[in-house]
Parts: sequence; structure tokens; C-alpha cells
Amino acid sequence: MSSPVLCGLPPEELAALLNFLPRFRAAQIFKWIAAGVSSFAEMKNLPLSLREELAGRFALRSSAVDARREDPDGTVKLGVRLADGARIEAVLLAGGNGRRTACLSTQAGCPAGCVFCKTGSLGFTRNLTSAEIVEQFLFLRAAALEEAAAAGEGAAESRAAGAKGRAGRAVANIVIMGMGEPLLNLAEVRRALAVITCRQGMDFSKRRITLSTCGIGAGIIDLAEKGPAVRLALSLTTADEALRRRLMPITEAHHLSEIKEALACFQRAGGGRITLELVLLGGINTRGEDAAALADFARGLDVVVNLIPWNPVEGLKTDDGRPLRQPSSGEAAAFASRLEAAGLKVTRRFRKGRGVMGACGQLGVLPERRED
Ligand code: SF4
Repeated sequence: MSSPVLCGLPPEELAALLNFLPRFRAAQIFKWIAAGVSSFAEMKNLPLSLREELAGRFALRSSAVDARREDPDGTVKLGVRLADGARIEAVLLAGGNGRRTACLSTQAGCPAGCVFCKTGSLGFTRNLTSAEIVEQFLFLRAAALEEAAAAGEGAAESRAAGAKGRAGRAVANIVIMGMGEPLLNLAEVRRALAVITCRQGMDFSKRRITLSTCGIGAGIIDLAEKGPAVRLALSLTTADEALRRRLMPITEAHHLSEIKEALACFQRAGGGRITLELVLLGGINTRGEDAAALADFARGLDVVVNLIPWNPVEGLKTDDGRPLRQPSSGEAAAFASRLEAAGLKVTRRFRKGRGVMGACGQLGVLPERRED
């Protein structure tokens, strides 16, 4: 039987598991995990005998980075091997002003089956554990510290921030937009976020975390009612219900009217502005009627629309066999203009990482042990 893994345990669960120790020891261990140590031997304020006992009874982490690719635009994509051999990807996106965003996966594969997404084409393997989600953050934060040091961006300060477990300076934002549908694994996502946002540890602000869903109404309401109070993005793609079902098969069971009511509930609970994400597929969801349907869907909600020109993945097709294509810049601009004319606030973001297949919708399985 494998040893219990400590990395993904919120403080109260860690204290309960370590109830044979004085409570302050559990707090010390939690802080070391938050600081990113990879072995019990590094927990220098614990007696040597205790470090040895812990190493014999528990595992600190459950997964390991086995591949890494870097894009000249600053994106870093990590391949992560899980204890059962399943593999996932996590991505560090470099924004302006050295602000880095960690993109985390919540499932191995994804059951949603969106036709424009590499992950969706892989099928579903399993939900990730809290530890496997937290570990992605720690791996990406370590990569961010390395990148910051290489770029000479106050490296000493960044390292100190990492050593204290204060993630904020190395990674500015977290987006839960990697492989999988997070609201179909909400319990483990919640536990992971309890660890990542705990003030006694990594102390990452909830308001700098965005969870992206393809629209699981019950999950949105659960999030609104029980938290955590993170930001929400809806991967809408189109507000044309029939087209949406063809592009995102899981939405067959999640109607737009229910999703809209769930978003309204989220906002009534104080959830703030919601991002509507639209992956733009040339000639498919950029029509005048798509803009009109979107404006109708958004009415009454506080939203910003984020347009994401489709990031190419070889072999992906619509359900009737049409190959997908990126929209031309004119097509995307005309669509954005229509939305703006309808009174919507529109942004165009997240094109980074294409060089390493690390952009939105491109996550699959990176070949192991590749360093380039
Ligand atoms: S876009 Fe998101 S929800 Fe859809 S298949 Fe890909 S990972 Fe799953």
C-alpha cells in the first residue's frame, strides 16, 4: 500500500493525520510544504528522528515532472507523471511586466469532449487528487522562480518569497483552465485551493485565481454557495444552443438557460464579473447570429468577453467532418466589433504558448524527458 501523501492536505486534515505529534509540528510541516521542499530531510526545524519517522510513514508528494518545454515567448509547459502512470500537463504563461500565470489541470483527460480541444480528444482517465493539483502549482512556481532568476528579475527577492511560501511574487495568477472540467472534480479542487490559499502557507489570494468551466450549472451554484470565492470564467464558445451541443457534447445535459441562471446566482452571491471565453473557430461561431445570441445571453449579467482565436491542433474536426481553422484576423476583428456594438466589453488574450502546444485547447501529453 502506498504511503499517505501530505502535499494536498489542508491544515486541519494534516493536523488530524499527524495527531500523534504536538499541533505546532503539523503547522511547521505545513509551512515547509508551502515553501516547496521536496523531502522531509529539508525540514530543518524538525528533530532528525522525526524527519526520519515521517519519511518512513508518509510521502511528501505523489507526482513528478518528467518533461519540460519552453517557448521563446516565455511559456513553460511541464509534463507530469502521476503515481499510477497517468500523465498530465501544467503550463506557466508569461504575461507583460514579468507577471506569470500558472495554468493547472484538474483531471487526467476530460469527459467534456469539446471538438476544438486536444484534451477533449483524449477521453477521460480520472479525477486528480488535491495533492496532484497542489503539486502542479509547486512545480510551476519553482519554474517561475527559475525564469525570474534567469531574467534577472529580483531573483533573490523571488527566491525569498518562495522560501517563505509566499507564492504571490513568483506567480501572479492561477487559472484552473488546464486539462479537465474542474466542476466535475470540485471536492478535490476545493481541498487543493484550501492549501494554496491558506494564509499560514502559500497565502495565494483567491481573487487572483480563476476557475474556468464549460458550464456545469450545479457546480457553479455549489461554488457560489460554499466557495471558495474565486473568479469564474465560462467556456461558452457560442450562445447558439444547437451549435454549442455539436462543439461541446457535454453541454447536451447543461442547457444555456440553466447555466445563465447559475451565473446569476454566482453574481448574487458576490462572485463578481464573469469572463465569457469564446474560442473562435473560423467560419463556425463568428457569424452575425453568433454575436446576437451572445449579446442576448449576456444581458443582465456582469461579464467581459474574452475572444481566443483557435489554437491549431492537427486532426481535430467538427462532428460533420469539417476541419477546424483559425479565424482570419479580419473575421475575428469583425466579430469583436459586432459584440462591442452590442454593448459588450471585449478582450483578446491567451495566444501564448503555441510554440510548445501549451496554449488554450492544446494540452495533451508531452513526450517524457524531453528538454528543449
Ligand atoms: S476545452 Fe476544457 S472542458 Fe472542453 S474538452 Fe478541453 S479541457 Fe475539457
